[in-house]
Amino acid sequence: MGAEKATLNTDWLSACGGCHVALVDLHEKILDVIGAVNIQHCPVLTDIKGYPKADIGILTGAVRNEHDRHAAEAMRASCDVVIAFGTCAVYGGLTGASLAHCREEILDRVYVNNKTTLTHEAPTSQVALLEKLVTPIDEVIDVDLYLPGCPPHASFIFEALSSLLEKRPPEASDRSVCARCRRKMVKTDVSAIKANHEGMPDAETCFLSQGYVCLGSVTLDRCHSACTNQGIPCTGCAGPTLQVLTEPTHDLRTEVSERMSKLTAIPYADLMAAMERAAKTHYAYAMATKMIGDKPTFLINKWIEDVEAEDESNDHH
Ligand code: SF4
Ligand code: SF4
Ligand code: SF4
Repeated sequence: MGAEKATLNTDWLSACGGCHVALVDLHEKILDVIGAVNIQHCPVLTDIKGYPKADIGILTGAVRNEHDRHAAEAMRASCDVVIAFGTCAVYGGLTGASLAHCREEILDRVYVNNKTTLTHEAPTSQVALLEKLVTPIDEVIDVDLYLPGCPPHASFIFEALSSLLEKRPPEASDRSVCARCRRKMVKTDVSAIKANHEGMPDAETCFLSQGYVCLGSVTLDRCHSACTNQGIPCTGCAGPTLQVLTEPTHDLRTEVSERMSKLTAIPYADLMAAMERAAKTHYAYAMATKMIGDKPTFLINKWIEDVEAEDESNDHH
């Protein structure tokens, strides 16, 4: 890292906190970071309420309420460079998956019909009101660097920070999760799709070849294939590959169905139908980004319109 100490602000919007934990989980590399930066506003490490001027700003989470908008704008105003850190910040991530439900359903599940709450009422003060939609941060402020991952692997975090401190472009491949997966794609006569809990998958063979839906081939590697090398199919938490995002005819569902139909005896149409039935799972991490919602091959905009319409009708009750 560079000799001169840079200043760093971080903040989290609607997020799970995992990205901030990942930031302080750089193992021995954290010493390099601490040696190179002065950490200022940072919800997990400091108690600085304001937003001092900073060289680098790290924003995690998506925009879902007034607090998020204010924090995003304050970070933009105070930081020379802003990193959208984690899949929630870049694509809406798991926060964006809440678009599959209207606000009333969400508040009902969290506060009203929830055995762990005492009042069984949605709060009317102290807690910021939910906006209708979940918004990735680059639709609210300008972003300089995107680092998806849920959370991103420590090596990508370190490379992003190093490149900024050394004033050089970051080294980050656009390869998919398959690139570091140790499993081999082979042609099989598997004729039915399996749920993840069914059977015991072979440890050497690609999940697709065995009838399990794995999103590794359509997901950007920002995790070093963490799940597939540990026996779990990829659910796409780092968000789609650049190819899926930028080429209008490419979509998660069509790409995976095509590949899996070639590797097994399962018909393409059956795979498309199965992926569509489980679309709220397969698109969970990226459904809030327009790059996926605008695809002609998918109906996410329709769900979002339904949620908005439901919200409006609830508002009028
Ligand atoms: S990207 Fe994942 S780890 Fe980061 S805040 Fe969102 S849900 Fe949490
Ligand atoms: S599809 Fe999944 S299991 Fe198959 S090679 Fe890619 S990441 Fe590995
Ligand atoms: S393998 Fe897939 S689900 Fe697992 S961490 Fe990587 S991107 Fe996320």
